Amino acid sequence: MIAVRGYQGARVAVLGLGRSGLSTARALVAGGANPCLWDDSADARARAAAEGFGPVDLTKADWSEIAALIVSPGIAHLYPAPHPVIDAACRAGCPVDNDIGLFFRSFATDDWDGFMTAPRVVAVTGSNGKSTTSALIHHILESTGRPAQLAGNIGRGVLDIAPPRDGEVVVLELSSYQTELARALTPDIAVFTNLSPDHLDRHGGLGGYFAAKRRLFAEGGPDRAIIGVDEAEGRFLAGQLSEAAADDRVIRVSVTGKLSGPGWSVFARKGFLSEYRKSRQVGSIDLRAITGLPGAHNHQNACAAYAAARSLGLGPAEIGAALASFQGLPHRSQMIGEKNGVRFVNDSKATNVDSAAKALQAFPRIRWIAGGLEKDGGLAALIPHLGAVAKAYVIGREAEAFARQLGDAAPTQVCTTMAAAVAAAAADAAPGETILLAPAAASFDQYDNFEKRGEDFIAEAQKYLGAD
Ligand code: ADP
Repeated sequence: MIAVRGYQGARVAVLGLGRSGLSTARALVAGGANPCLWDDSADARARAAAEGFGPVDLTKADWSEIAALIVSPGIAHLYPAPHPVIDAACRAGCPVDNDIGLFFRSFATDDWDGFMTAPRVVAVTGSNGKSTTSALIHHILESTGRPAQLAGNIGRGVLDIAPPRDGEVVVLELSSYQTELARALTPDIAVFTNLSPDHLDRHGGLGGYFAAKRRLFAEGGPDRAIIGVDEAEGRFLAGQLSEAAADDRVIRVSVTGKLSGPGWSVFARKGFLSEYRKSRQVGSIDLRAITGLPGAHNHQNACAAYAAARSLGLGPAEIGAALASFQGLPHRSQMIGEKNGVRFVNDSKATNVDSAAKALQAFPRIRWIAGGLEKDGGLAALIPHLGAVAKAYVIGREAEAFARQLGDAAPTQVCTTMAAAVAAAAADAAPGETILLAPAAASFDQYDNFEKRGEDFIAEAQKYLGAD
């Protein structure tokens, strides 16, 4: 655990008692603070009480006695409307922060004086590929024998990590909710994977969403910024962070073409990763045979992770060997198995149109299982990416409406349930085809979360993979 510094003897309010709220409370106690906890849900309050944290109704708090309010990422702090407790704290001038801000203010300690190499933090943000890129950076470090920990939106909460060892690298996956609120954000290396519309209700639109992510790169921020430049926002950010075209504090990443120019760049074309620095090629890796990283979107993640590892001083050959042994993450282009030339791939995490479009470009001929709770903006942006789709099998409570939106862009069958969709796709599939779950929608109409949806797909797929 990282003990929170700076609040010894002070009263600190914690709103939201999920995983990060409870770990924040423990870390505050470890640092000598006196946390008072609240959650609108009685169940969450009961869980906290079971740990010895009796609830304090923050809707009635006297904010003059409270040094800071620490908020969980799931609670709206501004849009569509601030939670009343956050609004009350803001009106009273009480600072609002989150566990990420507490982490950055508490991470460095006097113990580091005896270290050969100070611990470093790599933070990863962006719309898609954060988890995969973070896990990949962590995997590269671990498999090349470097001390590393992975935390944030993935795995453990940031304050739950062990105090860092000499030379350790902490890899953090940070969502836009987290970067928007944190009062301290000082990674040594920061990665911006890409930008596409998501969570717009929480950020008051695309500009607010981009601004939230950009805070990770604020002036005086990371020593090295690794920026995906395949969208205008990434190009703008990279330009803004560079003193000149040759400034190698920025590493530009692309999967849409060769990057020219005198700066530092890593790009993938036709399945080959290339690294250029000062207009000379210094590294190259064949990504095509890596089963854990299928498709151009995963090549983007590979380029970003490669750039982070290079920034940490690793060599191209050892990074290449580590990439080859990456198994991929569950529910992200996850290969479940193959039978009679038909592959089953679980990309349940493709909850938005952009990530689903990427998955649909990663395989040559697809039986596509899609549908669920639709996100803002509809499916129109997906239509140009359906070229490889032999047929769509639509699930979800609104399956018919979802199918209507696809129109005649692809043959479509309304299946509603996962079982019916997998059965129909498996009956139709021919050798060389991939049965792909990439829903382009949230899961909450039929499942608790995208993991449960993916597990249901796997269970149905296993019936076919296991059958004679
Ligand atoms: P995040 O943590 O940002 O949600 P994940 O690595 O969990 O990212 O991937 C989320 C979804 O996006 C998955 O469906 C995955 O296949 C897809 N995806 C992964 N990397 C990328 C990328 N670089 N660009 C677009 N989609 C991606």
